[in-house]
Amino acid sequence: MSKLEDIVSLCKRRGFIFPGSDVYGGMAGTWDFGPLGVSLKKNIMDAWWNYFVEKRDDMYGVDAAIIMNPRTWVASGHTATFADPLVECKECKSRFRADKIADGISESVTTEEFLATHTKCPVCGKENWGPIRKFNMMFSTHVGAVLPEDTQDNPELAAKNIAYLRPETAQGIFTNYKNVIDTIYPSLPFGLAQQGKAFRNEISPRDFILRDRECSQMEIEYFVHPDSWEGEFEKLRALQHDFLENVVKLPAENIHELEVPAEDRAHYSKRTIDFMFDYPNGEEELMGLAYRTDFDLSNIQRESGKNMEYRDKNTGETFIPHVIEPSIGVERLFLAILSTAYTEEENEGKTRILLKLPENLAPYHFCVSPLLKNKPELVEKARAVYDMLREKYGNVTWDDSGNIGKRYMKQDEIGTPKCVVIDFDTLEDDTVTVRDRDTTKQTRVKISEL
Ligand SMILES: [Zn+2]
Repeated sequence: MSKLEDIVSLCKRRGFIFPGSDVYGGMAGTWDFGPLGVSLKKNIMDAWWNYFVEKRDDMYGVDAAIIMNPRTWVASGHTATFADPLVECKECKSRFRADKIADGISESVTTEEFLATHTKCPVCGKENWGPIRKFNMMFSTHVGAVLPEDTQDNPELAAKNIAYLRPETAQGIFTNYKNVIDTIYPSLPFGLAQQGKAFRNEISPRDFILRDRECSQMEIEYFVHPDSWEGEFEKLRALQHDFLENVVKLPAENIHELEVPAEDRAHYSKRTIDFMFDYPNGEEELMGLAYRTDFDLSNIQRESGKNMEYRDKNTGETFIPHVIEPSIGVERLFLAILSTAYTEEENEGKTRILLKLPENLAPYHFCVSPLLKNKPELVEKARAVYDMLREKYGNVTWDDSGNIGKRYMKQDEIGTPKCVVIDFDTLEDDTVTVRDRDTTKQTRVKISEL
């Protein structure tokens, strides 16, 4: 098994991530978080929010609706350009993203360019392709009491009633920019942050949670004076590294910056750095830092007819702010953290699997257990220690199943940093055994010093 398969297997075995709609045979491109996964995901999202919003004077939060007025996506360019090159094999009717099955071509590949690569169908091995077609990746839905057949031959009604699940959280921030300016009067530069779901109808979802059809994003739109974007870009760039390396503890040597060349940049960006990460199956994008200029606010001003200018309180100067956007996918970060933490150790012919998760992210800080579950005095004492630790740290778990060795094995696999065991000595001297996940060393500690 590859390391990624080992991680997928552990995720299912221990309740981190299950295939979406598993009981019905799954739903391509979707994944569900189980009890342990929810805790880890929440800790990651809270760490991000704490670092980028709560600890700063220049950041504010918004939480916009997922279904937005369809004009949003006309203004943002998604209706026209949020499309992948779709190609169909005429032999077996399989459909693929052209730029994913042929080397050296971009998303804007033409039919001629694709045919010139002489790519064979990954399914049937033949080379008999239809033309490249643009496939828009937005999920559409009907809003209100409209039947799908009502809109089929009525483009006007369709335009009014077909809405999209947002393909990015960013537009929920831009469309609230004016409301925020008019209510809390922030001074430039300032950022608006949002965490939430985004949806992309990927042609071929793959690589576990790396390329799924529904994901959670954490995005900041940082509004700056047009003249100062370069300095602010560098500051935000340094902040991303600090967060990734010092808060969620990803190894710096596994993070690689990729300056995205103009022809590969999103339609709105004048400069983009992709932060790549060494995942078990190779280097993949972890997050992006993009200079979006005044593209979004100018388009919203044009589409809505509302003035998006900012008026400087001191100089009276008016202008449309420029924007720098750090954007990170929660699932991508989740997998980067998991694959960093996943460790196999060989010891006397046995393999120990452990997740070396940073303490601030681990689903549980402590596991508390009585040495024996059939001794009421041990159980009672262990319960008291459990209640005390839960009061103090919150994320604490209880385990009295099987023998101690089995409990340690389970806690290692879910990344619990410390196991606390209450035994007969505890009843005498109020000390407990604390067993460390990474070293397996056991030490005797006073309960009051936990
Ligand atoms: Zn084929």
